[in-house]
Amino acid sequence: MSRRVHLLGTGGTIAGAQPDPRHAGYSAGVFPIERLLSAVPGLAELARLSWEQIVNIGSQDMDDSIWLALATRVNEHADGAAIDALLITHGTDTLEETAYFLSLVTANATPVVIVGAMRPATAISADGPGNLYNGVAVAADPRAPGRGTLLCMDGEIHRPRYAVKTSTMGANAFSSLLGGLVGVVQTGRVAWFEPAPAIRAATFSVAGLDRLPRVDVLIAHAGMNADLIDAAVAAGARGLVIAGVGSGNMSARAIARLADAAASGVAVVRSSRVPRSMVLRNGEVDDDRYGFVAARDLNPGKSRVLLQLALTTTNDTQLIQEVFERC
Ligand code: ASP
Repeated sequence: MSRRVHLLGTGGTIAGAQPDPRHAGYSAGVFPIERLLSAVPGLAELARLSWEQIVNIGSQDMDDSIWLALATRVNEHADGAAIDALLITHGTDTLEETAYFLSLVTANATPVVIVGAMRPATAISADGPGNLYNGVAVAADPRAPGRGTLLCMDGEIHRPRYAVKTSTMGANAFSSLLGGLVGVVQTGRVAWFEPAPAIRAATFSVAGLDRLPRVDVLIAHAGMNADLIDAAVAAGARGLVIAGVGSGNMSARAIARLADAAASGVAVVRSSRVPRSMVLRNGEVDDDRYGFVAARDLNPGKSRVLLQLALTTTNDTQLIQEVFERC
């Protein structure tokens, strides 16, 4: 009996359309999920499919309220008995953030595979149909339960924590920089590189939440001043993530202003704008003195996700640092 995979459509280039396939211009989030499925031969032999559309947007417009709605649907399906696995279609721009968010707010027993595409559905060599086929194969694989949320693109299976969009140019747009791949999939044949982990509960509960705490990301650079820090705090940010230079560093005046913000109760996380980086506590910046949190290898976008979730449980910087060591 084939496994039951339920698809949740959210849009993205995988659902995108070009007015003319000979030209680059296109819109993401145009075609509904059933139209994408109809372009993929042989899917019905991989799994029994059902589907629903959550939103149909470019993932640059993904936001907290859609994340929470998505998490609610994923958890409802995972807690029910009607499906064995889920697959989400998503734009690639914020795919790693959504995948990381879901990996933190769902248990790992039910596989949740997220796929996207770099070329619109109407492109001459669209990559969406192949990614969809492989994604369904990964979701339906009997060895997938226990692996939780996975990101599947261009035949590679990534953990959300490590997957990063590293290219805007080809179908192989994602890399697992410091973590390594979980497996690969070629025309529906899945090879895992490691056994499935033990079943565990969700790290955070978002049940009943309709928003997440506001966290802003600021990028550091030569000559960084403090005005945008003030603006973010004045706008109500409860947390700030700095995409620091080097190992999460920033100008002395930015550090001074962030230390004031931290003293007034705003959580300040130091991440790095460098793709392969490790921001360790009390390195060149004295986190103990300023009341900062070090993001380790978590990039700025994902640090924002983790800080938003951490702030739903605590404002204590030490506890938030522990969350960043653990998640
Ligand atoms: N802007 C698009 C999106 O993230 C890009 C893509 O899907 O590749 O929705």
